[in-house]
Amino acid sequence: MSLKNNQNPSNTYNYIIAGGGMAGLSLAFYLNQSSLRNKSILIIDREEKNTNDHTWCFWEKERSPYEEIIFKQWKGVWFHGTDSFSQFLDLQEYTYKMIRAIDFYKYIFGILKENINITFLQADILELTETVKTDQGDFYASEFVFDSCYRSNYDNPKYHNMLQHFKGWVIETEKTVFKVNEPILFDFRTDQKNELRFVYVLPYSETKALIEFTIFSDNLITDAEYEFYLKKYIEETLKVGEYKIKPDEYQISETEFGIIPMSDEVHEILPMPKVIRIGTSGGYVKASTGYTFQRSQRFLQNLVKSLATNSKVSNGMKFNAWKGFLDTVLLNVMLKNRTPQDKIFTGFFKNNNPSKVLKFLDEDTSFFEDILFVNTVPKPPFIKAAWEVLVKKIITQF
Ligand SMILES: Cc1cc2nc3c(=O)[nH]c(=O)nc-3n(C[C@H](O)[C@H](O)[C@H](O)COP(=O)(O)OP(=O)(O)OC[C@H]3O[C@@H](n4cnc5c(N)ncnc54)[C@H](O)[C@@H]3O)c2cc1C
Repeated sequence: MSLKNNQNPSNTYNYIIAGGGMAGLSLAFYLNQSSLRNKSILIIDREEKNTNDHTWCFWEKERSPYEEIIFKQWKGVWFHGTDSFSQFLDLQEYTYKMIRAIDFYKYIFGILKENINITFLQADILELTETVKTDQGDFYASEFVFDSCYRSNYDNPKYHNMLQHFKGWVIETEKTVFKVNEPILFDFRTDQKNELRFVYVLPYSETKALIEFTIFSDNLITDAEYEFYLKKYIEETLKVGEYKIKPDEYQISETEFGIIPMSDEVHEILPMPKVIRIGTSGGYVKASTGYTFQRSQRFLQNLVKSLATNSKVSNGMKFNAWKGFLDTVLLNVMLKNRTPQDKIFTGFFKNNNPSKVLKFLDEDTSFFEDILFVNTVPKPPFIKAAWEVLVKKIITQF
């Protein structure tokens, strides 16, 4: 669907959604389902959103609000860790799901275009206060501007700042190679280079899969390096039975590159009256894993509920100091490389029921479950990290 300016003479809307990407469109989707669907809403994005610019994966127990467009889903995943720990893990009550951005955009545009109160504008946002200045004119929000465009530099030394960066190829093979019900969620059998490096393989069919090489670190590598490791993995490590894919036996049909900030920076959620930051801008990213999609859905549903009931304004995130502390400790262990990081993740999945790990990463575990979980990680590096995080927090209070 092409974006259009629905000529509102006063250029004033109840809500302006600045940035119609994952968070902006999800917010509009939930607003459209709520009692607020009659509010006038302007969604501004510089892009037309007609390409498959992301592949979003997440896990959940329930049906997704986007169930119709789930591209693939799996009930179990392979884990290839350290010390020869290789296991196919049953996710029990959870399902691992994948949505392609192109399907998401089409689906949401299709629904929202039925609502005459929603207007799309393709424009570059130049300045954002309660007035949103764009290269197509200025627009005013009588109630709120929801900002998903802002990006912090994530360079404040007070915080732990890492990056999750990755390059992926969708490859198509001549022979039937992939087992469609057996994705690989983590494969650590790649040179770690004192960072956390892994590959995941998400099969679309027996001859097609997304293969993504991912690094958690504080610096990027060159494009040629990502490609070198992808090729090496596909041709040397990835085996189906005893079969290895040969260099001339596959073609790359799509590529994906991404950088996700992993930071415990305290995000300014309400930078000025009437402006609410959402998505990556609003700190929705889970600092220690980079997973954002499913958290955004939860937080945006909370946000819409609070708007509909005139509750205290926030961006829907629930602040939990204990969960934040655990996240920062894990980030500290990884950033300071206090112990081989592939061993940490292997330990998580080797020593815990996989559904417990997913529940823990979703921050749904109780305090008691957290203590049991924490008890399964190597003690000295985590105690050192916890101590450093506590001291840092105390110092920065003064
Ligand atoms: C390639 C990739 C894959 C990812 N995969 C996963 C995954 O599998 N699971 C998961 O949980 N998370 C994943 N993430 C993390 C996260 O879910 C995504 O980054 C998600 O898109 C964040 O949503 P957002 O709305 O904050 O940002 P975006 O989706 O990037 O939306 C921001 C929008 O603002 C627009 N914009 C920005 N500046 C301006 C401007 N000045 N004027 C006009 N428009 C502007 C952009 O065009 C964009 O459409 C992935 C991230 C990337 C980059």
